[in-house]
Amino acid sequence: MEKLQNYINGELVAPISGEYFDNFEPATGKVYSLIPDSDLADVETATAAAKAAFPIWSRMSIQDRSDILLRIAQLIGDNLDELAQAESRDNGKPLKLARTVDIPRAQSNFHFYGTGILHFASESHSMGDLAINYTLRQAIGVAGCISPWNLPLYLFSWKIAPALAAGNTVVAKPSEVTPYTAYLLSKICIEAGLPKGVLNIVHGLGPKAGAAIIEHEDIPMISFTGGTATGEWIARTAAPKFKKLSLELGGKNPNIIFADCDFEDMMKTTVRSSFANQGQICLCGSRILVERPIYEKFKTEFVKRVKAMKVGDPSTDVNLGAVVSKPHMEKVLSYVELAKEEGGTVLCGGKRVMIDGEFSEGYFLEPTVIEGLPHTCRTNQEEIFGPVVTIMPFDTDEEALMMANSTKYGLASSVWTSNLKRAHTIARELHTGIVWINCWLLRDLRTPFGGVKSSGVGREGGFEAFDFFTEPKNVCIRY
Ligand code: NDP
Repeated sequence: MEKLQNYINGELVAPISGEYFDNFEPATGKVYSLIPDSDLADVETATAAAKAAFPIWSRMSIQDRSDILLRIAQLIGDNLDELAQAESRDNGKPLKLARTVDIPRAQSNFHFYGTGILHFASESHSMGDLAINYTLRQAIGVAGCISPWNLPLYLFSWKIAPALAAGNTVVAKPSEVTPYTAYLLSKICIEAGLPKGVLNIVHGLGPKAGAAIIEHEDIPMISFTGGTATGEWIARTAAPKFKKLSLELGGKNPNIIFADCDFEDMMKTTVRSSFANQGQICLCGSRILVERPIYEKFKTEFVKRVKAMKVGDPSTDVNLGAVVSKPHMEKVLSYVELAKEEGGTVLCGGKRVMIDGEFSEGYFLEPTVIEGLPHTCRTNQEEIFGPVVTIMPFDTDEEALMMANSTKYGLASSVWTSNLKRAHTIARELHTGIVWINCWLLRDLRTPFGGVKSSGVGREGGFEAFDFFTEPKNVCIRY
């Protein structure tokens, strides 16, 4: 069976302990590779390599750093098919999605930050005849980057690319559930000539290898994307060490649909925003609030389209592949049971999809729509992170806003209306880091990305990421 390897100091290496654990293919439920069970010793070696590489990498000309990152971007593009197939197999997502979204976006991340750094300039502040201040934005040192399983290479590269472009070196850990494309990225970095030690990828369990990164004294900044509970632990652990933190956490995103929206446009997008990637995108809308005059029409049409969605072999033309793991499938199904206990009616879905043959053990779930629940119940307050949405009617703008803002999360929201004044007003009043008006997941990499409340701390994207991965220093010169 294939054994994945860590990427430390420019080389692919086995974990020091020699221990591995199983990597499952979600569509078949079978083990297909082995993941290094790295521990503190591997993180120590990786961090030492990153620390040693920092002086050279941070002083390398910006153009040279940019050239190397653009070579990595190019190689990701050249290996699109292999990477997309690996991502689909490792995560269970439809191959089509990996090929059109995940891998192209990973390529764009390296391209965007590889070129963006060429335009990242310092400010200066004149004090007239007295003095001039300028701000040096300097790389900090070793960055710890930890990413989740839902968009594996996409989110891994979203952190690594700006950290490296800004002149830091990196110790990174992908999710143990989806390590494969990070492993392939190691090989690409070697081929691209990334100097040794600049990027180190350590595979393993969150509470072991991940925690060792968070706690390491020589890693002064952490960029983390994952669950809110993990984020809370990281914040508590990093705070006494005064580490710089960027936390992109969970969501319970509302879609607010007004009667005056473009119905067809809204319907097409709402089906996608509910179930893309099996509903496992932190930005998926999971609470659909519909203005009462169109509630019944919405419900009938939405359920009809959801019932028509195809679930199955991710390598074929399906709408949904498998969810990422057996425990996750069980968690999602337990929320369907909870919704029923809370008085909800399952309008469609709610069950595991059983497929004969090769996929009989796969973690497939029906796309599920539930109605009849109050906005305050657990089903409507807790992140499910799977193909399950609730629909609820509302009567006024105020009520929609109250329901939308009622959870502890505040990542993203979508609003559907043709009333310009209402769109602006609602956008202003929503407690989320991102508001999409008449669209969803329309991303410009220059924009600030992140959430409020329990959805995170800090922003990534555009120059925000460079601000995070550098430390500003004020230099004041008296004339
Ligand atoms: P987790 O928080 O379980 O894991 C995220 C990463 O952290 C994984 O690499 C995990 O490793 C690692 N980890 C776990 N425990 C620790 C620890 N104690 N110290 C350091 N690292 C640790 O999240 P999931 O992987 O389950 O991802 C799903 C979550 O991510 C959802 O809540 C989703 O909303 C959120 N998310 C947020 C996004 C955003 O931009 N706001 C975007 C995408 C997802 P391992 O896998 O080995 O456990």
